[in-house]
Amino acid sequence: MLLPELTLAEPLAVLKEIYGYSEFRGKQAAVIDQVVSGGDAVVLFPTGAGKSLCYQVPALCRKGVGVVISPLIALMRDQVEALKQLGVRAAAMNSSLSQEDFIATRRALTRGELDLLYVTPERVATAGFMEMMRDLQIALFAIDEAHCVSQWGHDFRPEYRALDRLAEAFPGVPRMALTATADPHTREDIIERLALTNAAVFTTSFDRPNITYEIVERAQPRRQLLDFLSRHKGESGIVYCLSRAKVEETAEWLNTQGIRALAYHAGMAREVRDANQDAFLKEDELCLVATVAFGMGIDKPDVRYVAHLDLPGSVEAYYQETGRAGRDGLPADAWMVYGMADVTQRGRMIDRSAAADEIKRVERAKLNALLGICETADCRRQAILAHFGEKHGGRCGNCDTCLSPVETWDGTEAAIKAMAAIYRTGERFGAGHLIDVLTGNETERTERFGHTAMPVFGAGKDIAPKTWQSVYRQLLAKGLIRVDHEAYGALKLEEGARAVFRHEQSLRFRVDRAPKGKASSGTRKRNDAKAALSEQDQSLFEALRATRTALAKELAVPPYVIFPDTTLIALASHRPGSAEAMLEIQGVGKTKLQRYGAEFLDTIRAHG
Ligand code: ADP
Ligand code: ZN
Repeated sequence: MLLPELTLAEPLAVLKEIYGYSEFRGKQAAVIDQVVSGGDAVVLFPTGAGKSLCYQVPALCRKGVGVVISPLIALMRDQVEALKQLGVRAAAMNSSLSQEDFIATRRALTRGELDLLYVTPERVATAGFMEMMRDLQIALFAIDEAHCVSQWGHDFRPEYRALDRLAEAFPGVPRMALTATADPHTREDIIERLALTNAAVFTTSFDRPNITYEIVERAQPRRQLLDFLSRHKGESGIVYCLSRAKVEETAEWLNTQGIRALAYHAGMAREVRDANQDAFLKEDELCLVATVAFGMGIDKPDVRYVAHLDLPGSVEAYYQETGRAGRDGLPADAWMVYGMADVTQRGRMIDRSAAADEIKRVERAKLNALLGICETADCRRQAILAHFGEKHGGRCGNCDTCLSPVETWDGTEAAIKAMAAIYRTGERFGAGHLIDVLTGNETERTERFGHTAMPVFGAGKDIAPKTWQSVYRQLLAKGLIRVDHEAYGALKLEEGARAVFRHEQSLRFRVDRAPKGKASSGTRKRNDAKAALSEQDQSLFEALRATRTALAKELAVPPYVIFPDTTLIALASHRPGSAEAMLEIQGVGKTKLQRYGAEFLDTIRAHG
């Protein structure tokens, strides 16, 4: 179709004609040049940066079929669908294929009738598939979600390890590895394990400027969640919970509150799980409550929020999960509630796992790094990016601490009291009991252990128990104390505590914001993707959205594969009156214009 037998298409022409975009973003052009000219590439861009184009465009420019290795079958289906909508000849080969479809795809492949083929890593490694590929002209291999090859990541998949074979078996074919996981360990693993030492490495900033970060202290989490969701009426998003039970309870409860929510976790029957995922992709207004089993490879561009009801295990996990919001570049929210209980729970999970001590140590350090971000009084974005080794000037203006700066207080004396309580009681108690001791709250236990007689008993009466909770969390985040799970969650002092006791180091703590019911939704501006449109244009946008929904239903595809929101917004504000004018709109390529142009132009006309 695109490629006259011998000539190669020009990348920019492909971008314009097929995708309807006017220019490459960031380093896309550099990656594409490298691969079109036959070189290997490692592409480390954040979610939403446009990695797919980095392999799709070269596959269309080079002769032969581009083989894309992707871990999840359900998502391949959507990617293939999106490509077909663009008029690209794409197919998937995986275990869900019927015998008939398999044969048809295989025939199309051998006849050179496919531009892109999506396969799972398991299949690529089979002798039969390797054999078949030998007879094909292959444009490139793209290994998506390449961090799965690394044990350092949280998505390790042993099947990825066998992909190093491609280097030897197909020496002249360019190979690319793509991921949104940035940490240096994972990066080195990808390069080494996938035999990409000669590849050009492309990185960009990992900042996601359109995502607003917000982390609040847990008070009444359900109330807090409802407040948060009230900012996102008519939009889709994900709510992450740690346990399957909590996923189900939360989804059920949200439905009783008038919010359409579905559950997703690995313990559900496959059909139900797949149906819920499908609904999430296809519906415009749905809250998916999920464990971390959900999300990898989801390329729904209009996820407007990601909420965490429980703390993830690391900054990497937090960033990857929140990164699923706002792929389309429009404003999106990453919101989390967290409290002391998370720290205890996460820590216990690490200690009880069967992992080696060395791994547990790394896991604890990872958890602590995330705590540091939760407890920072400075710009969250700056703290997050610093974790990935990236400098950011701070004061991003788009995180909670920037939008409403937190006050800090000199907590040195309080820290000394809090740590003295740990020390005097023999490093054997958790925060709850220590706070009873500090505030002079007589209980059966303070009595039984003789703590009421100690000088620290009641020494912190002037500070509220809730503030003491916050002090202990911040001491944990600063690495001055730790939770010992072998000792049932007892707090223990770390090396650094000494300098504080000796007044060699002073400490500033953030003042916890009192969760005042609706405060957050009332005082903050609505983070609305279409807020920039005039009222009239918004009403046209809604009409265009209805046209899209109807088409999507008819074709049984997710609405965004017809046109993303960004395109609808451009249509609503530019109101093209002809096919030629519509072709100027970002995201309108030739095939889509042909298929859907008339219907959207009609909607615009009818709107006068
Ligand atoms: P990633 O895989 O890096 O997370 P995607 O490939 O899904 O990102 O791209 C994110 C969004 O950006 C998609 O909707 C895509 O169509 C859009 N996009 C990518 N490249 C461009 C470009 N050069 N111009 C306009 N939009 C683009
Ligand atoms: Zn900020």
